[in-house]
Amino acid sequence: MAHQHHDDTYTADMLSVEEARNEVLALVKVLNHEDVHLMESLGQVIAEDIYAGLDIPPFQNSAMDGYAVRHQDIKGASPNNAITLKVVGSIAAGQIAKVALPEGAAIRIMTGAPLPLGANTVVPFEETDELVRKKSDETVDEVSVFHEFSKGEFVRPAAEDVRKGELILRSGTVIRAAEIGVLASLGYDSITVTRRPLIGILATGNELAKPGTSLIYGKIYDSNTYSVAALVKRYGGIPKILGIAKDNFKSIDSMLFKGIATDLLITSAGVSKGDYDIVKDVLTQRGNITFWSVRMRPAKPIAFGELASIDNHKIPLIGLPGNPVSAMIAFEQLARPAILKMMGKTKLTKPYVYAFLEDPIINTDGRRVYARAIVSKKNGKYYAKLTGPQGSNVLTSMTKANGLAICDETVCAMKIGDIAKIEMLDWEEVE
Ligand code: AMP
Ligand code: MG
Repeated sequence: MAHQHHDDTYTADMLSVEEARNEVLALVKVLNHEDVHLMESLGQVIAEDIYAGLDIPPFQNSAMDGYAVRHQDIKGASPNNAITLKVVGSIAAGQIAKVALPEGAAIRIMTGAPLPLGANTVVPFEETDELVRKKSDETVDEVSVFHEFSKGEFVRPAAEDVRKGELILRSGTVIRAAEIGVLASLGYDSITVTRRPLIGILATGNELAKPGTSLIYGKIYDSNTYSVAALVKRYGGIPKILGIAKDNFKSIDSMLFKGIATDLLITSAGVSKGDYDIVKDVLTQRGNITFWSVRMRPAKPIAFGELASIDNHKIPLIGLPGNPVSAMIAFEQLARPAILKMMGKTKLTKPYVYAFLEDPIINTDGRRVYARAIVSKKNGKYYAKLTGPQGSNVLTSMTKANGLAICDETVCAMKIGDIAKIEMLDWEEVE
């Protein structure tokens, strides 16, 4: 790696990505709790300690389809010395035995069925002449056992998995499919979680048209609203689309106030240094908004602060840059951790790998470069090639990328074969 240092007078007034992120995280709060149906809770954080209200399994049951026996009755059984027992009943899962197991007898039992009184072992069908008898249409009123089994074999004891009163899931646990399954197995159909943030999304720009409408020359379709709303959903928030504001004070001001009853506002565009970049003016007047340059490429200009409502209720606001790639990358770096924190999550960093670069990365001006990369795995090693042109307007590059290759602010250039840290956007795409 070429560790040449840039002249840092240019970047002196900029915040590092970490500094910007810390400012955002200092302002957003963990949200309050809500009860949600189990099926709505995927990805949310449990807000109470969960203790088992019952044993799992609640009763001793069979681990196999077979015969419930007393182990004493099949002692010495072998293929040459089969022991034949009288079959006195059958228990399906969900049923309970009508009779206790008499000595020298067997009861057919299915996986999950409670063991009948008197039985202590299950002989799987495979270890008996069950199949032969079935094939020859013999009535299965007796069965020959070919192997002996010790006491308790193929029996699942009560409370093998969970004991009543035990702490099963701690407050703070992120709910995945497994947690949902465990909660259901304990009888829960709803759960107390940290609520999902409602996030107001406002696009700004006179040039923007709504997808689904016709496009006249000079206009472009608004894509930021949609990519940002999708990212909000992906990370667990609830998007509230506020629409497209014009590049004037009144329009942005009134549309932002439609989003005042949210947990976080996210705008796009109007924060750079052009003639119509009004967002920062509105925000400065309507709250305590700061405008930053963040030492990153893309996505240098970002607005951040709080918007105050009439009754002085304050809502954090992240003003993303307008260029579609910049908006997405700034979202990943700043809005994503904010959403995760609000949801009660504590792991806020993105997953990453180290990969050998298959393309060079040039860093022209001492900002941290997030280059869109395609990470692949060959012979157990990660490789990253770039998606092609890296302009912050080239949104299709984000459809090709599964990661962002990082060239640090202090590094002027990375060569082919250098090792880069790659923040993964999508793990599933690594092949
Ligand atoms: P601005 O920050 O307003 O100077 O915008 C920078 C660039 O991003 C311009 O080319 C805008 O047309 C473009 N842009 C702004 N907002 C959007 C949006 N919602 N969807 C797509 N492109 C946008
Ligand atoms: Mg604009």
